[in-house]
Amino acid sequence: MSNIQGKVVIITGASSGIGEATAKELASKGAKLVLAARREDRLKKLQEEIQKNGGQAIYKVTDVTSYEQMEELADYALKEFGKIDVLVNNAGVMPLSPVYQKKINEWDTMIDVNIKGVLYGIAAVLPSKRERKEGHIINVSSIAGHLVFPASSVYSGTKFAVRAITEGLRKEEFINNIRTTIISPGAVATELIEAISDLELKAKIVEESKVAIDPASIARAIAFAIEQPSDVAINEMIIRPTIQEL
Ligand code: NDP
Repeated sequence: MSNIQGKVVIITGASSGIGEATAKELASKGAKLVLAARREDRLKKLQEEIQKNGGQAIYKVTDVTSYEQMEELADYALKEFGKIDVLVNNAGVMPLSPVYQKKINEWDTMIDVNIKGVLYGIAAVLPSKRERKEGHIINVSSIAGHLVFPASSVYSGTKFAVRAITEGLRKEEFINNIRTTIISPGAVATELIEAISDLELKAKIVEESKVAIDPASIARAIAFAIEQPSDVAINEMIIRPTIQEL
């Protein structure tokens, strides 16, 4: 039997891309899913598809930038399924731009979603995991959490932060038998680049993204981390397209 069978997994950013693919992968392996994002129509459609294929999923419309909503999400999972085994902090945005353009609102959104959203997710699920002395927190960083390139200063800053927060959490919580995993994807074919408001830069990134791999590739890596025996922690993974240089 798969070590994913019966696990309760919250996935943020489940309405598209990597989150959606992860939900489908884990549902096919018997996880009980709690899907979260802002677009309800997408969550509902995904829930229906999972259920049609014999899987289990519930959803809750959630904005990860609200700590209150993240607590409500964790409470909902506990009420419906009685426990939370895994949180996949996947929601993220990437409106790349060079600093001189001063796209302050976009910086604020990246910091709110990519950093605060991850912290709020951790804060919402940690008490029940500490109590059970068991659990797994998976945070999606990026290759941009390892490397910085022009126009990625703020985005990379948020993704370096995700790695720092996850490693800090590991050092604090290993003693409570809580596993942490950092997932750092390279180019993946999703809606992420749509948010780039500088059209010239967007065209360049679209061109570079021609090598992008299917989000199911990242979903399989996440499933691999979850399905290890509980005394084995896959702490970090980089998953790139084979032909990506960066
Ligand atoms: P998508 O744009 O397809 O998915 C992003 C998800 O985040 C959506 O489901 C969106 O849902 C959700 N989201 C955004 N803002 C919020 C918010 N405030 N509250 C709740 N959910 C939110 O992109 P990806 O699947 O590619 O992105 C997933 C993660 O992977 C991100 O953290 C990204 O940084 C990371 N990543 C992606 C790479 C790629 O090449 N695609 C490479 C490296 C890392 P909704 O709008 O419905 O709320």
